[in-house]
Amino acid sequence: MHIVPVSQLDLAGKRVLVRCDFNVPLKDGEIADTMRIDESLETIRYVIDHGGAAILCSHLGRPKERTPALSLKPVAAYLTKILGKKVAMAPDCIGEVTGRMVAMLAMGDALLLENLRFHPEEEANSPDFSHELARGKSAYVNDAFGSAHRAHASTAGVMAFLPDKAAGFLMMRELEGLHQFTQNPDHPLVAILGGAKVSDKIGVIRSLFTKVNMLMIGGAMAYTFLKARNIPIGRSLVEDDKQQLALELWAEAAQRKVELVLPVDHVVAPSPDAAATPQVVEVIPADMMGLDIGPRTVDEFRARLAAARMVIWNGPLGFFELPAFAQGTLKIGEAIANQPGLRSLIGGGDTAAALEGQPWSKSFTHISTGGGATLEYLEGRELPGVKALER
Ligand code: AMP
Repeated sequence: MHIVPVSQLDLAGKRVLVRCDFNVPLKDGEIADTMRIDESLETIRYVIDHGGAAILCSHLGRPKERTPALSLKPVAAYLTKILGKKVAMAPDCIGEVTGRMVAMLAMGDALLLENLRFHPEEEANSPDFSHELARGKSAYVNDAFGSAHRAHASTAGVMAFLPDKAAGFLMMRELEGLHQFTQNPDHPLVAILGGAKVSDKIGVIRSLFTKVNMLMIGGAMAYTFLKARNIPIGRSLVEDDKQQLALELWAEAAQRKVELVLPVDHVVAPSPDAAATPQVVEVIPADMMGLDIGPRTVDEFRARLAAARMVIWNGPLGFFELPAFAQGTLKIGEAIANQPGLRSLIGGGDTAAALEGQPWSKSFTHISTGGGATLEYLEGRELPGVKALER
């Protein structure tokens, strides 16, 4: 794989299209979490400090057409504040007015294009749209690892028109971090999966079976596995149409001698509500939902982790958005972070968000910002956005 990092690109005097991942959570028109923007600052600063003009682009949400609530304007305002220089906002990502703004942009300055997904041609990877997106620029930098599993115009197609291409610092860090894990694994290797859906993660479960010694499952995902074995799960979130699949995965694990570890107790409440009084149970009552792994499960997971030399973790182990159901995720996070010699890969936006800001969260070996992209990488699939960056 030959990918040039942005630090090896000659940027002086160039208008550089920089694909970022500004797909941030918004609440009442405000950015609720700036992590994704902050992660791309190094690359943006590098381009403008090395004599280039940065033309930033990203998607936000899943609009099918122009949707004012999904404008990137709040991102331009945040960038202006944090970079200490005006980041102008273009009315669109292509077209005449935007083209003029791109042409007039001074070297050392930055311009943010409007949400790429206001045009369905972005996701369709249309060559005409890619050509328009490339117009007026002479180099391309991709820093949007979180979108690298998509073959869209801005992550793949555009490079046909901008052969002077490179990976940003975040993209390089992600690729190097993940490469270390897949190419040089240490054993015992333990995987932890959580989150809401089994269906999203079947591919990665199957591929993990060929690599890991043990798979621990928490989060809502666990209830599909427990119900398949007739263990009562009350009103917990479950994918009823995946029971058969769960049984097959169970059999596959046994055949491959991968130990499958499931929760033995649970933190339950009638619903995921901040006002609910959580209880710890071993058997989930019919009117309750399992919302976190219980303390005995935390101990079991920790005891097994103590022997591990490498851990891959994707998906929160409970409804972490409410502190009452975040304890399992936090206790396992702390145990991993504090275990000397344990290499840890924490993947997925939700898992990172759940652990962010904890005093020990800097001790993980690699925290991946990608959700789907990280899972597909771990499955061993080729990421179109990475493939297109190869020279
Ligand atoms: P995913 O996108 O599949 O990684 O799922 C992440 C979501 O799973 C988060 O929003 C969590 O709140 C949710 N989650 C994890 N455990 C549970 C649970 N026991 N019940 C309901 N939701 C859960």
